[in-house]
Amino acid sequence: MKSSLPRIEVSLSQIRENTKKLSKLYMQKGISLMGVTKAVLGEPSIAKAMIQGGVNFIADSRIENIQKMKSAGILTQFVLLRTPLSQAESIVKNVDISLNTEIETLKNLSYHAKTQNKTHKVIIMVELGDLREGVVPYDLPQFIRKTLSLPNLKIIGVGCNLACYGGIKPDNKNMREFSEIVVLLEKEFQINLEIISGGNSANYEWFKSSQDVGRVNNLRLGESIFLGCETVGRKVIPGLHTGAFQLIAEVIESKRKASVPLGEICQDAFGNVSSFLDRGERQRVIIALGRQDVQVSNMKSNSNLKIIGSSSDHIILDGENHNLKVGDDIKFSLNYGGLLSIMTSPYVVKQFTESNVHVAV
Ligand SMILES: *Cc1c(COP(=O)(O)O)cnc(C)c1O
Repeated sequence: MKSSLPRIEVSLSQIRENTKKLSKLYMQKGISLMGVTKAVLGEPSIAKAMIQGGVNFIADSRIENIQKMKSAGILTQFVLLRTPLSQAESIVKNVDISLNTEIETLKNLSYHAKTQNKTHKVIIMVELGDLREGVVPYDLPQFIRKTLSLPNLKIIGVGCNLACYGGIKPDNKNMREFSEIVVLLEKEFQINLEIISGGNSANYEWFKSSQDVGRVNNLRLGESIFLGCETVGRKVIPGLHTGAFQLIAEVIESKRKASVPLGEICQDAFGNVSSFLDRGERQRVIIALGRQDVQVSNMKSNSNLKIIGSSSDHIILDGENHNLKVGDDIKFSLNYGGLLSIMTSPYVVKQFTESNVHVAV
């Protein structure tokens, strides 16, 4: 029987091995890992592979994903990366640790922790220049003082996040600044910050080039575990698998046609007016996948088929010299954006395999 199409084949063993290698590497300088599952919607089998590979925490941005993993029996410390005030009650109920930047939210977490007779652990995020989440360093002492006064909360650490919005690179300068902030806060408030979470998959180069990682003792990794690369220049990390996720789609039409549309050119389905290069008649292949599933700039054919266009549910490829016929499969690799949207598409079947060797198609 033919497997369902389109589908994404996920190699759990490759994810486990990537996690193992990264855990071992980062542990050489005393850094523990949080496995970040948001790009895979908190898929329990992937979280399990990460835990087997050595992560000490599973982190996700969505409470629904954490609930899914807990219901599936995943046992670990769960970290919520993004903390909406409106979900405070459920966060206290479901999550061990949350990342925070707003006093109002912390007040709500404190209230619900008290009501639920619990201590909720928080990591305070510090703004270091990327301009996504974080308390600016100048405001930190006051912020920490207020947080310490809230009952049933425990500040267990601080974190920072670079290379996400502003694309600011983690380097010796901002990472040293982060460590200095840790030292100052501990001294001023006579507290011990247990988790110093210095960043994400973009911290690889900084880590490799630093003799001394300062106070940083944790990183939160998604992309480098999944795709085997760092995220400053998207370079492959030596020894890691880069093909743990493979997208497979079905050819639904393969015909020789002109390369320039016939007739007067107007706006396409998305309001763009395209121009076309006349390359004569070419073999054109259409697959059953579209913008509703993935943006074509986020996918790459493993056999070098050029993608020439897409609409909501058709992607057109130049199939010249590839001898593809209707019903054939085509395999693609994905970048992080592609992985995110494919995993989110309800039309794409998710297939998890233990084997290192994918079945050839
Ligand atoms: C998504 C996310 C991460 C993981 O980033 P990668 O680049 O996938 O390693 C880490 N920290 C926070 C706060 C995030 O939102």
